[in-house]
Amino acid sequence: MLIKTLLNKVERFKSFVYGSTCVMLVDGVEALVIDIEPRRNSRPVCPECGKRRSVYDRQPQRFFEYLPVWTFKCYYRYAPRRVDCPACGVKVEALPWGYGKERMTFSYQVFLARWAKRLSWKETADIFETSWDTVFRAVQFVVDYGLAHRDLDGVTEIGVDEIKVFKGQKYLTMVYQLNAGVRRLLWCGPERRAKTLLRFFHEFGKERSAQIKFVCSDMWAPYLKVIAKKAPQALNILDRFHIMRAFGEAIDQIRRDEVRQLKANGQVNVLEHGRWLLLKRPENLSEKQTTRLDELLKLNLASIKGYLLREDFQRFWDYQRPDFAGKFLDNWVTRTLQTDLEPMKKVARMLRSHKPLILNWFKAKGQLSSGAVEGLNLKAKLTMRKAYGFKTLKCLQIALYHELGKLPEPEYHHRFC
Ligand SMILES: [Zn+2]
Repeated sequence: MLIKTLLNKVERFKSFVYGSTCVMLVDGVEALVIDIEPRRNSRPVCPECGKRRSVYDRQPQRFFEYLPVWTFKCYYRYAPRRVDCPACGVKVEALPWGYGKERMTFSYQVFLARWAKRLSWKETADIFETSWDTVFRAVQFVVDYGLAHRDLDGVTEIGVDEIKVFKGQKYLTMVYQLNAGVRRLLWCGPERRAKTLLRFFHEFGKERSAQIKFVCSDMWAPYLKVIAKKAPQALNILDRFHIMRAFGEAIDQIRRDEVRQLKANGQVNVLEHGRWLLLKRPENLSEKQTTRLDELLKLNLASIKGYLLREDFQRFWDYQRPDFAGKFLDNWVTRTLQTDLEPMKKVARMLRSHKPLILNWFKAKGQLSSGAVEGLNLKAKLTMRKAYGFKTLKCLQIALYHELGKLPEPEYHHRFC
C-alpha cells in the first residue's frame, strides 16, 4: 500500500493507524478515501481535560478533508469514539487531525491558508475547487492559532496608524511593531477613537506597555492622549510620513476648492488633471510632467502656493539639531499663517501645537527607522486591494493579521507547499 507508506512519511498520528484506501464518490465527486482506525487498546482523549478515558460508544463515520492528490479530493474517514469522562461527562474524543464540527483537517487548512497568502482568496478557492468561505475558515484557523502562539516579548518600538476601509469614513486602527527585523502588525481594531487604542493597551498588558521606548503616531488627538496615558515612559514621535501626509491632504483640499472656483468663473480648468503633478515630489516627475509643472507654476494659483510651501518645509527634515529645526519650524509657521491658504494654515497651527512631539523625531534619529510605518501602511492597503470579497470588518482584520502579522503556524515536519 504505497499511499499508506507515503502518508506515514508525511503525517503520523500516535494512537491511530491508516487503514484501507479506496476511490469513491463523496458529495457526488470521485475522491480518494483513507480509513483511519484507533490503534488497538488505545484509549480516546477527552477534549476538555485532555486525559485518556474509556470508550463510551462510537459515532457514525465522518469525512475529514485532506490535501488533494493529483487534483483528486482526498478524505480521511473515521468513526469518532465518545469518551466516558468522570470529570467532564460523555464527549466526542479529541482528534489529532481535526477539531469540532470542522470538516477540514488541520493540514488542509494550513495548506489553503498558505496559498491564500500568495494568491487572492478567490483564486485559492477556484484552484482547489472549494468555496471562498472554506478558504476564509482556513485562514481564520491559522490566524487564531498564530495569535494564540505568537511571542510578544521584546516589543520596544511601535507605530500607530489608521487606515480607511470600505467606502465612507470607516477606519481601522493599526498598531505595528517597528523593531528592526520584527516589523509586523500587532493589533488592529475598528474605529480610531481613544477607546480603540485603549483596548490595544489593555490586551497588550501593563508590563509589556511599560517596555515600550518609542511610539510613532500621527497627530490624531485621541491617539496622543492614550499614548501619553498608557506608555508615559515612551518617546512619542510624530514621524515624517504622518506629517507629510497632512501636507498632501491640505494641498488636495486647496486644489479641489480652486477647481470649483475656476469652474464657477468659467475659466479654463488647468488644474483638472494637474493633481498628481502637485502631489508628487519634483524628483519623481518625468520630463514632460516637469514642463507641465513649470507652466502651472507660472499661473500663481493657490494650489501652487501650497505646493511651494510644502516643498519649502521639506528642508526641515535635513536638520541635525532639534533647536535649529525648531527655529525653522517657527519661521515656517509664521510665514504660512500670513498667507490666505486656509488648509495650509491649519497644517501650520497643527505643527505649532505639536512642536515638542515633532522635534522628538530628531531625538530618535538613527534609532528608529523612518518609513517603517509607511511601508506597513502600504502593505495593508495592498492587502485590502487584493481583498476581493471581504465584506465584513472581521474578514478584513483576519486578512491583515494573516498578511502582516508574521504569525507562527502549526508545525509539521513535512512542508506541503
Ligand atoms: Zn474530561
